[in-house]
Amino acid sequence: MKSVYIHIPFCSNICSYCDFSKIYYNKKIIIDYLNALENEIKNKYNGEIIKTLYIGGGTPSCLSVDELEKLFNIITIFNLDNNCEFTIECNPENLDEEKIKLFKNYNVNRVSLGVQSFNPEILKILNRKHNKKDVFKTVELLKKYNINNINIDLIFGINNQTINDIKEDLDTFINLNIPHISYYSLILEDNTLLALKNYTPIDDDLCASMYEYICGYLNKRNYEHYEISNFSISNYESIHNLTYWNNEEYYGFGLGAHGYINNIRYENTRSITKYLDKKYLFYSDKISKDINIENEIILGLRKIKGINKSRFKDKFSQEIYDTFYLDDLLEKKYLIDDGENIFINEKYLFVSNEILVMILNNIRK
Ligand code: SF4
Repeated sequence: MKSVYIHIPFCSNICSYCDFSKIYYNKKIIIDYLNALENEIKNKYNGEIIKTLYIGGGTPSCLSVDELEKLFNIITIFNLDNNCEFTIECNPENLDEEKIKLFKNYNVNRVSLGVQSFNPEILKILNRKHNKKDVFKTVELLKKYNINNINIDLIFGINNQTINDIKEDLDTFINLNIPHISYYSLILEDNTLLALKNYTPIDDDLCASMYEYICGYLNKRNYEHYEISNFSISNYESIHNLTYWNNEEYYGFGLGAHGYINNIRYENTRSITKYLDKKYLFYSDKISKDINIENEIILGLRKIKGINKSRFKDKFSQEIYDTFYLDDLLEKKYLIDDGENIFINEKYLFVSNEILVMILNNIRK
């Protein structure tokens, strides 16, 4: 079984922090885009059963009902498993009842809402166009149509944001009564509106305190912390995203999409002109065993449960301890081995990148 990611790059508004592959909604090119996408899928997809399908963006929900229907018709190409997790990313300001009915007709069973904050001042900094009321209305509508597997994305670590602002956003999230939250720290990327406006990043220590506060708050309310930035009620983890963190293969279709199929990692072009011209590929690379092991570590240690030692051995025909010197990191309690799994001590998750660098530098030659 495989997973599929489909990228819909159109947005009706550009957020100030956004570094994704996106373009302004333009009715004139959407049908050409969907035709190019259909052609890409027909050329690459080998008919495997699909266990998760994720339509991301961009903002897939900014497409009109007719455009969404065309997209869903293209998706009928896939051989979806009966229990397929089918997610679509939406923004609260452009999702309505008609679109939700369409989701239902085409078996969408999970919706991920780009919310980022409920605070009007923060939303202004991020250049987001919805408000708190829109989010409550959207969640209510989704639940009306029995789409209860809902995620919201929130962002912390924004200049001017306080721990009290975070608490208020979390209190509002709890009132939504939904099973999943992704809480990301703001990363200032080059060429974003924020970077161009010389935005000053927040102090690192304050950002770390915010992260600690978020983890503590959600853990107390039965949201299991299962990945660095992701928390869910039991059995509502994102199965699709776990495919990435388990270093499993998946198809990526659409502008700028990444994929990993037949031991090849690839990245599609970010040029819409090239994409419409069906020149999809930007880069591809056959993955050597060493790189695969590196990916297993980088992706696997994002999970709170970390890397299962026997699965590592089955996959690579060698023990993780024969691959890396880990004694020092275990002794310093940066890493923990509970007998089955090796994982990053929760205390150090906020600096997990530093720990990963130490592990990868400790490779046994
Ligand atoms: S963050 Fe999402 S909605 Fe905002 S511009 Fe980027 S892709 Fe579009």
